[in-house]
Amino acid sequence: MKSFPVNLPDITEDDIKAVSETLKGGWVSGESPAIADFENDFANTIGVRYGVAVSNGSTALELAFSALNLLPGDEVILPSFTIISCLAPILRMGLAPIFVDSDLSDWNMDAKLVLEAITPKTKAILIVHIYGLSVDMDPILEIARRRNIKVIEDCAEVQGVKYKNKPCGSYGDISTFSFYSNKLITTGEGGMCLTNNNELAKSMQDLRSLAQSPERRFMHEALGFNFRMSSMQAALGISQLKRAEQYLKHKKQIAEIYREKFASLKKFVWQPETNSVSENSYWVFGLFDCSQSISAAVVAEELSKIGVATRPFFYPLSEQPVLKRYPNAKTMSHCPNAIALGEYGFYLPSGNGFTLQDIIHISELALPVLLKLESN
Ligand SMILES: *Cc1c(COP(=O)(O)O)cnc(C)c1O
Repeated sequence: MKSFPVNLPDITEDDIKAVSETLKGGWVSGESPAIADFENDFANTIGVRYGVAVSNGSTALELAFSALNLLPGDEVILPSFTIISCLAPILRMGLAPIFVDSDLSDWNMDAKLVLEAITPKTKAILIVHIYGLSVDMDPILEIARRRNIKVIEDCAEVQGVKYKNKPCGSYGDISTFSFYSNKLITTGEGGMCLTNNNELAKSMQDLRSLAQSPERRFMHEALGFNFRMSSMQAALGISQLKRAEQYLKHKKQIAEIYREKFASLKKFVWQPETNSVSENSYWVFGLFDCSQSISAAVVAEELSKIGVATRPFFYPLSEQPVLKRYPNAKTMSHCPNAIALGEYGFYLPSGNGFTLQDIIHISELALPVLLKLESN
């Protein structure tokens, strides 16, 4: 039986050559000129001035929060339906997470609920764009500007997606990206922070690299991190970035096949091709049982029997057991849609390395299984 993993990156001969060349040139560390080259190339594609390359998308979020001068007790609004990396820096810095629920029509954080969650203590909003569709940012950006609330945009899942006429990642004070193996482009592990603000860029560059004093190496006026990206990762990123447009097209074709093949499904629904503010890049092709009766765990088990791997959606942050350890996290918002997505949502193989023929094969294998589950 042929089996399909949930992710398969696309690594070409050009990628291998780019990594070999940095190795042959003796460049391995985060001091390599390839880092600045990748930062510039990447920032240009999003139309933002400064890029700060880091070790992964989670450390990009840590770095972004660390650069914003937030104080313990400050409230940060974020969606419940996202990855733990969004919550970790908030809890570690003693900030108070305020969770908002998702809209079931596009699975993104609901901008109306963000506005309702704002209090005089709100100092930052973390916007997380989910699976290829942008959050409706204008109402959030407008109030943030008026009240001097910082905005971080987590764009790990929307590289190349536009909000209205500009790329996601060009709106926040800082935006973050991930180049993990399943993201639009990959550096194996890797990430990036973008900003148009010169001071924030400077601060993130310092904090990324142990916050060395400019006067004297190994002297520190602040505590930084080692979040540097290596030269091999940056070389791979430069090479992968050349194919970003091609990958965006491929993801749309993958989604088109799934949508056509799955047209007869009644309970399993997918994220729409567009919402009111963006066109879906279908970073992954997710399905959600809108009758809320067939759990993702059951689907995963049935599909694994025919060699098709799936991944469940995020478990809601507002329900994470770790919150109990953090006294600042006591305002427990109830997020029923995030809970439903976490219980009844999963995604199918969608990586750049799959051919369209693979996807046709996977969807034809999966369809009868999904139809049977629907009829039970
Ligand atoms: C993947 C992802 C991250 C984390 O990136 P890593 O590189 O895996 O640490 C953060 N936020 C979102 C929304 C993601 O999808």
